[in-house]
Amino acid sequence: MLSPMIVFSSVTKEYHGRPVVKDVSFTVQPGEFVCITGPSGAGKSTLIHLLIRAEYPTSGTIEVDGADIAKLPVTVLQMYRRNMGVVFQDYKLLEDRTVAENIAFALEVSGESDQVILERLEEVLSDLKLTEQAQMFPTELSGGEKTRTALARALVHQPSILVTDEPTGNIDPVQSLEIIKLLKQVNARGTTVILASHDKLVVDAIHARVLRLEHGSLIRDSVGGYLEGEETKETQPTAVKTESHSHPHPHPHTHPHPHQHKEGESSGEHHKHGGVSGRVKPISI
Ligand code: ADP
Repeated sequence: MLSPMIVFSSVTKEYHGRPVVKDVSFTVQPGEFVCITGPSGAGKSTLIHLLIRAEYPTSGTIEVDGADIAKLPVTVLQMYRRNMGVVFQDYKLLEDRTVAENIAFALEVSGESDQVILERLEEVLSDLKLTEQAQMFPTELSGGEKTRTALARALVHQPSILVTDEPTGNIDPVQSLEIIKLLKQVNARGTTVILASHDKLVVDAIHARVLRLEHGSLIRDSVGGYLEGEETKETQPTAVKTESHSHPHPHPHTHPHPHQHKEGESSGEHHKHGGVSGRVKPISI
C-alpha cells in the first residue's frame, strides 16, 4: 500500500474565532478523484484554500507527499504551487490577453524556453479543443470555453494534482458534462483530482469518492453520488478514518508520477515519494 499523497489530520480553520472547518481528517491516494461536496457555506472553498496553502490551519496539519505544507520553505513552496494545477469558478483569466497568451503566461513566469512553451501550448490547446479559440480574448469566449482555458492553464505544467473549486459554477449542464468528461480523462492519465462542488448533477455524474462537509465538519466519506454512495460510511466529525477506504479507481496501486526534480531546485523536505513534482502524460480527448 502506498503512502497517501494528501493527509488532513484534525484540521480546524477559524475566522475571527469562529470555526468554519472543524477537526477534519482524511487521506487521498495518488491518482484518486475526490469530490468535496456540501451546501453553500459548508467550508468547501476553505478546505481548497488550505490545500493550496492560501490559508493556514488554525490547528491540525496538512501533509502532501509527506511534507507538512505549513512548513514548506519559500523555494519549495513555489515548486509545490507550480506543480499543483488550480482552477477557480471565476477563472481568473487575464482579460487583456488571448487564450494562448493566458496559457503561455503560466509557463513564461516559470522561465520555460520558447520552444517548450510552444510545444506545450499546442499540445494543451489541442487536448482541450481550444485551437480555434487560441487568438480570442476571454470576453469573446463561452462559459465552457473559459473553463477549458482555465483548465488548460492549470494543466500546461502537467501537474500531479488538479484542484478545482466549483469549475462548473458558471456554465450550463451540457457544458458541465463536457468538463466532467475532461476532468475524468485528466484523472485517467494519473493526475489526482480534487473537485469542490455543491452541484448534485456534477457530483452524481463524476461518480467518484465523495467527502461531504456540513457546517465545517466532514460527515461522510463514500463512493458514488451526491447523497449516498455504494460504500457509504457515515463518519463522526472527530473520527473520520479514510485509511481503509477502498480505492475507487482501476489504477494499480503504483505511484503514477515518477519523481523529477528540475536542476537547481531545492528538494527540501518535500516530495518524499514523487507526487507533485511528477510529470504525467498529456491528456488526449
Ligand atoms: P463553501 O465553499 O462550502 O460555500 P466557504 O469555505 O466559502 O464555504 O465558507 C465557509 C464559511 O467560512 C462561511 O461562513 C464563510 O462566510 C466563512 N469564510 C470563508 N472565508 C472567510 C474569510 N476569509 N473570512 C471570514 N470568514 C470566511
